[in-house]
Amino acid sequence: MSQPYGRIYNFSAGPCALPVEVLEQVRDDLVNYKGAGMSVMEMSHRGKDFDAIAQQTEADFRKVFGVPDDYQVLLLQGGASLQFSMLPMSFLEEGSTADYVITGAWGKKALEAACMVGAVNKIFDAKETNYDRVPKFADLKVTPGAAYLHFTSNETIQGVAFFEDPSLDVPLVCDMSSDILSRPVDVGKYDMIYAGAQKNMGPAGLAVVVMSPRFVDRLPAQTHPMLDYRLMIENKSMYNTPNCWSIYVCGLVYQWVMKQGGLAGMNRQCKEKAQVLYDAIDGSGGFYKAHAQPESRSIMNITWTLANDELTDEFLKGAKANGMAELKGHRSVGGVRASIYNAFPIEGCRALAEYMRAFAAKNG
Ligand code: PMP
Repeated sequence: MSQPYGRIYNFSAGPCALPVEVLEQVRDDLVNYKGAGMSVMEMSHRGKDFDAIAQQTEADFRKVFGVPDDYQVLLLQGGASLQFSMLPMSFLEEGSTADYVITGAWGKKALEAACMVGAVNKIFDAKETNYDRVPKFADLKVTPGAAYLHFTSNETIQGVAFFEDPSLDVPLVCDMSSDILSRPVDVGKYDMIYAGAQKNMGPAGLAVVVMSPRFVDRLPAQTHPMLDYRLMIENKSMYNTPNCWSIYVCGLVYQWVMKQGGLAGMNRQCKEKAQVLYDAIDGSGGFYKAHAQPESRSIMNITWTLANDELTDEFLKGAKANGMAELKGHRSVGGVRASIYNAFPIEGCRALAEYMRAFAAKNG
């Protein structure tokens, strides 16, 4: 089935497909935003029109994600990667340690940044099995008195994910960049959650940070201004000029998520889409092999290899010729990666599954 506006099925890991309804709204607002006489890109971040947009975006995020009233929500620049550094610079106090759970490439990057700041304990690392699984939270040995425990709920490159919000005796910090808004989250269990915008929320260059009052109390009196959560809280994320465009589009996406039935509705759709692809992999009689172990399988990034790796290039070329792009797996895993975030249409998953079956029948 062809897509509107001649769009193709874009399986990119991020930036990635946005909801067509949101793009249409952006188009309609583009040149003259609701009679303001200018676009959102052209208006002052201190003016009343943008102020209303920023307030609505934050309010809608709080509503859709279920953020407790006493938690802070920040919309910061520097992407999720800057949080890898801001977090330990603020909370990894001298004399303490932080626990890191490594289930893939992004957790490793977060760990590397923390190592530059202070003492870190890697309490789990799935390196030996090339990051094909996540641990059970109950099996983790948390360091007594740790400043925090950091984990990555969905590893974008490997396609492995956690699906629960743990109760552990340590302040919890989670990088939810690639699965935020794909399932209901018990936000109150965490002291900090952060996510880059460019998968399930909007354009790149923005990170949403959610912080508990306990963590706010622990913030150091002063840090470099652009790395200072306290300053960002005091200035409502507008200490300097924020990423106005991303804030505006994210706001539209939050409203779209609500129309999908909120996070419960989103989660149903995501599971259904992922199942279409996992069924095609598992039903291929070994022609395709999923990278992730069954209990750890992501519903955002589906990763697999072909038993005969020499066919991978042909598989990707054929997919592209059939209107399915950005399917090449990351070199650390190889094979194929289909990123099917919230806005990715189920028809694209069905088209890919059909192509997979035809390709296997021809080459198996
Ligand atoms: N964490 C995860 C899980 C990611 O997938 C990514 C980006 N792919 C990042 C962090 C880094 O995000 P950014 O590029 O916004 O810094």
